[in-house]
Amino acid sequence: MAITLPPLPYADTALEPTISATTLQTHHGKHHKAYVDKTNAAIEGTDLADASLEDIIAAAEAKGDKGLFNNSAQSWNHAFYWNSMTPEASAPDGELASAIDSAFGSLEKLQEELASQGAAHFASGWVWLVAKGGKLAVEQTHDAATFAVGDAKPLLVIDLWEHAYYLDHKNLRPAYLQAVIEKHLNWTFAAENLARDGNWTYPA
Ligand code: MN
Repeated sequence: MAITLPPLPYADTALEPTISATTLQTHHGKHHKAYVDKTNAAIEGTDLADASLEDIIAAAEAKGDKGLFNNSAQSWNHAFYWNSMTPEASAPDGELASAIDSAFGSLEKLQEELASQGAAHFASGWVWLVAKGGKLAVEQTHDAATFAVGDAKPLLVIDLWEHAYYLDHKNLRPAYLQAVIEKHLNWTFAAENLARDGNWTYPA
């Protein structure tokens, strides 16, 4: 069973002007689709043909198959990124709000940490809010590296690759980060991820 390209969870105009429809159409319809298509081409006829995307990522990492790892992990990261954003501004509450206060002191401090680590990240990658060892943390991964598998539980992610923001913000990655962090992070999704037993899984 091939890996699917899940539809965007909102209209392609829904995040404007932070992220334009043109960017979303290209980013989802071309970049994400290419990662999915290349993953499917690589697993066709192999013992991973019917595996979940999480199992494909883990197998690629274990085998040192860099091409399959990059395409499968990027497929997962992008689906998680679409869900990490929402058109409607939201705010953490309940257990998530307590965990944020405990780890960072306040939501504002967490927002500053996401913005500063995201802006400082060298070249392509991702900035994440994760839960690990019973505590929240902001982490960066380079290129296709992912928290899809492993001990840490990803709550939110922001794409730092230039294709995520260059059409709308040119070289101003901090402007893209500030707008996403202040207006579009999906705290409901983060709370669901914190509450679930395992990690979020890619739609079958
Ligand atoms: Mn991307």
